[in-house]
Amino acid sequence: MIKAVKGTRDILPPASAVWNHVESVAREIFRTYNYHEIRTPILEETALFARGVGAETDIVGKEMYTFEDRDGSSLTLRPEATASVMRAYIEHRLDQLPGVKKLYYIGPMFRRERQQKGRYRQFYQIGGEAIGSESPLLDAEVIDMSVEILKSCGLTGYQVLINSVGCSNCRPAFVELLKEKLAEVAPKMCVDCQRRAVTNPLRVLDCKVPEDQPIIETLPSILDHLDPVCAGHFATVRRVLDHRGISYEVRPRLVRGLDYYMRTTFEITHSGLGSQNTVLAGGRYDGLAESIGSKISAPGVGFSMGEDRLVMSVEGSLTETDSPLVIVTFTEGEATRNAAISAAAELRCAGIRSEVSEGKLKKVFEIANKLNARLAVICGENEVASGTLSLKDLVKQEQWTAASSELLDQVKKCLNK
Ligand SMILES: [Zn+2]
Ligand SMILES: [Zn+2]
Repeated sequence: MIKAVKGTRDILPPASAVWNHVESVAREIFRTYNYHEIRTPILEETALFARGVGAETDIVGKEMYTFEDRDGSSLTLRPEATASVMRAYIEHRLDQLPGVKKLYYIGPMFRRERQQKGRYRQFYQIGGEAIGSESPLLDAEVIDMSVEILKSCGLTGYQVLINSVGCSNCRPAFVELLKEKLAEVAPKMCVDCQRRAVTNPLRVLDCKVPEDQPIIETLPSILDHLDPVCAGHFATVRRVLDHRGISYEVRPRLVRGLDYYMRTTFEITHSGLGSQNTVLAGGRYDGLAESIGSKISAPGVGFSMGEDRLVMSVEGSLTETDSPLVIVTFTEGEATRNAAISAAAELRCAGIRSEVSEGKLKKVFEIANKLNARLAVICGENEVASGTLSLKDLVKQEQWTAASSELLDQVKKCLNK
C-alpha cells in the first residue's frame, strides 16, 4: 500500500477546519494593516536560496529538496518564502509602484529536517513582508501585526523577544571581536559551534546545547557595538512597542539563522507543550535584494510563523464552528428523488448546509445521527403527490408535515430555535 511520503501528512476534516479558521483570522488581520496577498511558485531556481538564504546555513547546506530538471537546470522546493517574495518584487519592479509594498503569503514550505515529533518536511508558513522602506516604524508595525494575529487566534502566554544585529557598517567589527574570543573558547564547545566559530560566528550565540550556555554568556554582546544609526533605530522600535503596550524582552543573543537579516530581529515563543517553542520569527533584511543580484535596493522587514504549531496550540480551545446540517431524503421513484434534489438545492441557495441521502429511512436516520444532523426533510410518495414534505427535528424527535412552498421558512424556524 502506498503511503504519504515521510515527513508529509494529510490534513483531514475536522482538523482542516482549524487550519481554515487560523488562515481566515490571519487574512483579516493582514487586511486591516493594508497587506495584500502574494502567491509565488513553490519551485525556484536553486541559486535564489543559495544566495538569498546563505550557502553556510543548515537550510541550504543540508535541508533543501534540490533536483536537476530535465533540461539540466537546478531547481529547489522553497524552504522559506522571503527570498521568493523579494525575487518577485524585483522581477515585477514593484518598487516603481507608490508606497511601501506590504505583502503576505500563506502556503507550504519544504525542508528535509531530521525526523522529530511535530516537525514536518512539508510544513506551512504564514508571513508578511513590508518592502521599500528603512523606517523603524515598520519593524514595530510588523511585530505589532504578528502579535495581533496570535491574539486573534486565541493564543495566550506568548513572549516577544527582540534584538538588533547591527548593519554592514557596525557588524563586521563585532564579528571580528567575536572570532577573537571564539578562537580561545570554541574548542570547548559543541561540534557545530566549532564549525560556526569559523564559518558563521554570530550563529554560535544561537546554539541551544546546554553545556555551551555558560561559555556563550561570556561572549561580547552586539548591543554594545551598534553604531549610532543602528542604536537609534533599535531605540525607536522599542519606544513604539512601549507606546502600543506590547511587552517584550531584549535578548542580545537572538540572531537569526538566515544571513540577510539586519538591525531588528525578533521571535515570539509560546510555552504550549511544556518547553518554550518559537511560533514566529522575523526581522529586517535590508541586504537581501543585493544578495540575490538586484541593482535596485529594496530594504524590508517581515516575519513568518509556523502554521503547524499555531494550529496545534489553538486546536484545543476552538469550539465547534460547523453550521447545522440538514439531511434530505426520499422514498422511491424519480418524482420523490427530484423533489429531494430540488429541496436540497433550495436550502443550499439559502446558505444552509444540506446533503441528499438515499436508502431505507431507518438507515438514513442512523447516519444522520452519526453526522450530528439537526433536521431531516423527507420526500415521500404521498407527500410529493399532495405538494407537501415531512420534516423531522432530529434533536427533539418531532415530525410534522408542511407545504413544500414553506420548506425554507420551516427549516429556518427549526434551526434558529
Ligand atoms: Zn550599524
Ligand atoms: Zn554549541
